[in-house]
Amino acid sequence: MLLASALLAVLATLSLRRWEASAQRHVHEQARDMATMCVEKIEAALLRTEDESLVSLRRAILTPEFSAGRPHPVQAWLRATPLFDRAYILSRDGSVLYPSQWSPEESAVFTALRAEISPGFWERESRRHVPLADGVALLAAFPGGSPGPNLAVLRLSEPELRRGVLEKTQAGLGGQSLLAVLDASDRPVFAARPLDRAQRVVTVPFGETLPTWRLGLYEPEGLSPRDAVRRQATLFAAVFVLLLGVIGVGLTASYRLVRRESEMARLKSDFVANVSHDLKTPLALIRMYAETLEMNRVPGEASRREYYSVITRESERLTRLIDNVLDFSRIESGAQRYALMRRPLEPVIHDVLDAFRHPLTQAGFKVEVSVERDLPELPLDADALAQALANLVDNAIKYSGEGRRVEIRAGRAGDEIRLEVADDGIGIPAAEHARIFEKFYRVGSSDTQGRRGSGVGLTLVKHIVEAHGGRVTVHSDRGRGSRFVLYLPLSRGMA
Ligand code: ADP
Repeated sequence: MLLASALLAVLATLSLRRWEASAQRHVHEQARDMATMCVEKIEAALLRTEDESLVSLRRAILTPEFSAGRPHPVQAWLRATPLFDRAYILSRDGSVLYPSQWSPEESAVFTALRAEISPGFWERESRRHVPLADGVALLAAFPGGSPGPNLAVLRLSEPELRRGVLEKTQAGLGGQSLLAVLDASDRPVFAARPLDRAQRVVTVPFGETLPTWRLGLYEPEGLSPRDAVRRQATLFAAVFVLLLGVIGVGLTASYRLVRRESEMARLKSDFVANVSHDLKTPLALIRMYAETLEMNRVPGEASRREYYSVITRESERLTRLIDNVLDFSRIESGAQRYALMRRPLEPVIHDVLDAFRHPLTQAGFKVEVSVERDLPELPLDADALAQALANLVDNAIKYSGEGRRVEIRAGRAGDEIRLEVADDGIGIPAAEHARIFEKFYRVGSSDTQGRRGSGVGLTLVKHIVEAHGGRVTVHSDRGRGSRFVLYLPLSRGMA
């Protein structure tokens, strides 16, 4: 699964990169289309305005007055046509018909222009745009003039071009994008809105109408296609990382669940084996002693009594074991009920010690009991609490190791009664303290595994104490003995 996620991450990164590149290409193409469309619109508008102006110029040139060498019809035309700020009319033979005076630089320009245009240009009603040092000029041929064809050189007025053509055409174009007309040296000649720190996306050259000029499409800062694509890519990456995170958490959770389940299955099967083993030992003893008695093979009254007491003791152990298993299954099914009644604690302690007297003395245990005098009564389910205490004493014996001491103390601690069972036995490593109260759990050391046990004794202790509104704590470490402390509230309100 980890490998699959890693593979997925690599694939996603690669496809994200590819998508980023193609998205940028796409946005770029769109920008180019828009700029091209705008260029075409500007060119069409300029040509239309020029057409209208040339019709009236032709009329002015063909007036008898102009033919007679008087310049004012063209002068009047120039005043009425703001698109051009300068006009020259040249004849084919090289003379300048308009204006009446010109500078030597202008003369050089005329010569250059004449050399550049082909003979055919004079014969047809041709037109052409040419770049000048200080702008753009429209060259237009008028074949029908006198004494021969005339050539008009008309310089486009930059302010009028801006006002009359660019401004009108660009209104409503571009959306969020900014459009700017750039001259030969990349200087914005005209921009619909201030460019500020906008980024240039594409430039498209104007055709023949405005040679050397170009139209640039800009995007405002932060809105450039690159930024937009980056933002989307970041968002996508964030979502993907989040997704990977969720998958990771899911995987970990399921791994833990599976591990827990398999551990639980192992613990359950251990439980069945342990309980069966625990049942078999006392049963074998009971059977052996009973059969010996039955066959009258026991000499003397004292021995016989010893045999009877072994049978009683072992059957008590069996009962305790079966009670534990039954109570545990009732707790699991939620059917366990406790009847709490106000009672003294001391008799419960003595009953339990009585039941264990024989095994304790036989194994040479020193039992220290100290119960504070005048302990108040408290709400108790005596049988259940006796069972809890018996489980603790049983563990103290089972896990005593070399130690031979069991200590039981009871005393008041504020609004609670503190009941302790301590031993000098093998102890419990601190890391296991939280788990020993879990069902079926047994400390996995070789010291413990050699002893009988079902792993539900402390689970019952905890359940019983909590049903009394109390809690249980453990103080222990490996090789240092153990001390289990039950805190039982003096009144139910404390629960
Ligand atoms: P078990 O039937 O195994 O005794 P318990 O629920 O009573 O089950 O106890 C759980 C585990 O806690 C035991 O297997 C043992 O490892 C540890 N334990 C309980 N009491 C003691 C003790 N007094 N000294 C050392 N270890 C103990």
